Amino acid sequence: MHELSIVSSIVDTVTESLAAYPGARVKEVRLRVGALAAVVEDSLRFCYGVATLGTPLAGSDLVVTKLPVVLHCQACGKDGEIESVQSFRCPRCGEPSMDVRQGRELEIEAIEIDDAEVDA
Ligand SMILES: [Zn+2]
Repeated sequence: MHELSIVSSIVDTVTESLAAYPGARVKEVRLRVGALAAVVEDSLRFCYGVATLGTPLAGSDLVVTKLPVVLHCQACGKDGEIESVQSFRCPRCGEPSMDVRQGRELEIEAIEIDDAEVDA
């Protein structure tokens, strides 16, 4: 499953980032997902719940920011968001374009952590 391998790499990346914060727990992971990343959000959430069990990410929230596809149009020289990934045309002048400037992202935007309480 595509989403499971994505989540596994998120868990790896976050766990590595936490190396500098021993005992820290993750509260929230924010992802930026482009419309062309071919990610099913429900599936991603399901996999996240399963794959984070027993890791410092267990119980944390996954916040997904979806990014629309932005094309650069040669004809009018502008960048514009397209309405549908079925039609790669400039929203201003209607010229076809395959010059994708945004929409393929699949990246961690931020990780929010809570330092673990230390027993005296
Ligand atoms: Zn145009």
